[in-house]
Amino acid sequence: KNVRGCDYKWIWESKIPLKIQIFLWQLFQDAILTRDVMSRRKWAGNSTCSFCSERETSQHLFFTCPVARIMWRTVGCVLDEEKFYTFGLAAMCWAMWNCHNKATFESK
Ligand SMILES: [Zn+2]
Repeated sequence: KNVRGCDYKWIWESKIPLKIQIFLWQLFQDAILTRDVMSRRKWAGNSTCSFCSERETSQHLFFTCPVARIMWRTVGCVLDEEKFYTFGLAAMCWAMWNCHNKATFESK
């Protein structure tokens, strides 16, 4: 199956590392392992967001979570040109995803 044949051509055309391209693609397919997805797959942990008290769907984690909103507002000021926007979006989502993984899998 050729994943590059999908509708998200802009992801593959952008100048970002391949692993981040794959991650972004999964994000837009709603195929990443958020707590919501994992709990539906009988994961034992709770499905509450790592940063607030809402249910952690991918939509929530990257866009509607208060923490995500603050981060978007911060970078939104700098990212007014479209080419920077794609890169910034990728970098932001990737950073939040790593942060999420830390909070989810390296519980203290
Ligand atoms: Zn949240």
